[in-house]
Amino acid sequence: MTAKWGVGLEKKIFLKCRECGREYPPVRLYACEDCFGPLEVVYDLDSLSLRRSSFEGKPKNLWRYFELLPINDKANIVNLEAGYTILHKSSRLAEMLGLKNLYIKDDTVNPTYSFKDRPTSVAVSKALEFGVQAVGCASTGNLACATAAHAAKAGLPCYVFVPSDIEMNKIVQISVYGARIVAIKGTYDDANTLAAQACETYGWALVNINMRPYYVEGSKTLAFEVCEQLNWEPPDHVIVPTASGALLCAIAKGFEELHRLGLISRNDVRISSAQPAGCAPIVSAFKAGSLEVTPIEHPETIAKSLAIGDPADGVYALKTIRESGGVGEDATDEEISEGVQLLAKTEGVFAEPAGGVVIAALKKMVEQGDIQPDERVVCYITGNGLKTPEAVSEILAQPTEIEPRMDSLKNIIDLKGGEG
Ligand SMILES: *Cc1c(COP(=O)(O)O)cnc(C)c1O
Ligand SMILES: [Zn+2]
Repeated sequence: MTAKWGVGLEKKIFLKCRECGREYPPVRLYACEDCFGPLEVVYDLDSLSLRRSSFEGKPKNLWRYFELLPINDKANIVNLEAGYTILHKSSRLAEMLGLKNLYIKDDTVNPTYSFKDRPTSVAVSKALEFGVQAVGCASTGNLACATAAHAAKAGLPCYVFVPSDIEMNKIVQISVYGARIVAIKGTYDDANTLAAQACETYGWALVNINMRPYYVEGSKTLAFEVCEQLNWEPPDHVIVPTASGALLCAIAKGFEELHRLGLISRNDVRISSAQPAGCAPIVSAFKAGSLEVTPIEHPETIAKSLAIGDPADGVYALKTIRESGGVGEDATDEEISEGVQLLAKTEGVFAEPAGGVVIAALKKMVEQGDIQPDERVVCYITGNGLKTPEAVSEILAQPTEIEPRMDSLKNIIDLKGGEG
């Protein structure tokens, strides 16, 4: 092969433009020099002799897939043990919706309580490998938490750009890890634009901007794990909460790589997108049969982590949904809140609104016949409900206070038919 493979590196990877196909060695580059298209990491899969048994005994975190992640030297890994989260067989919710084979991939229980620990662990590791002096991100909240924590673990300063109206608990969490918060009076897109200018000026590695090709690689482990946890039998259908579209595209890439490695025997997983109705540029384009994604200028939704009006990977996500035979569905604030409660009450998993979006979309897809009762469906639940209590706390009943006596207790138990 030519010099596109990094010279002198053990791992054979290169960068490839997703638009024009131009190839580059795995350097600190994120946009094509010819066409400004985004770059993605390509591996020499043929040189890897990975079998299903290769993963037995590997660490129970995302680094069990080290060969398929873009880090050369294990010494650079920044590891808070993200990943290898539980895949719940969700029989109660399945029965309620009329499904037979429903699974919840529970990424609420990562180190900073969202799936963003996966891409961040990879991006901050790669930043160390590149020898950068500071990291950061533009974020709707969760990415900032994950970046701040991994920067702390790596001993690097961290700058995060967030819209000023994100949830209080996320602000608290980011601050505790010691990151500098730049709270922007504006939308995520405003924060992202400023962050992109800032990293040019200050030389920072912003994980979702100038580290993006490496960053997204961490998220594909959500596809690897689901296949491994289903005994290397891929699901029929997955539902992905979607903001910029990066996660959805990364999951598709994960299935494709496993298939090319021969670790799964088919690559026909239907990949569907769930977005909040107040910010659904990708789902709207899907429903309209459009090839273009029209940005939303003023997102308005309780699912703040999904409030990206101008999705960087929107067109690629749309293409992935269509080509895989998936669908797109949206959910109103009320449906999102109901979705959060339904998941919690049937399966014991407390998700942030993004999870409610997925459950609400799932329900609609079943009702509309987009999902058949016997399809093996996996819902990606990507963030923890304790990060966003305001999304449900107002509508939940306050507990009834009583005196610490049996007769007081009897009154309220009898009142509520024993279910209180
Ligand atoms: C970031 C995020 C997503 C997906 O975001 P993409 O930008 O589409 O990759 C999904 N759920 C939660 C909770 C998130 O924080
Ligand atoms: Zn190009």
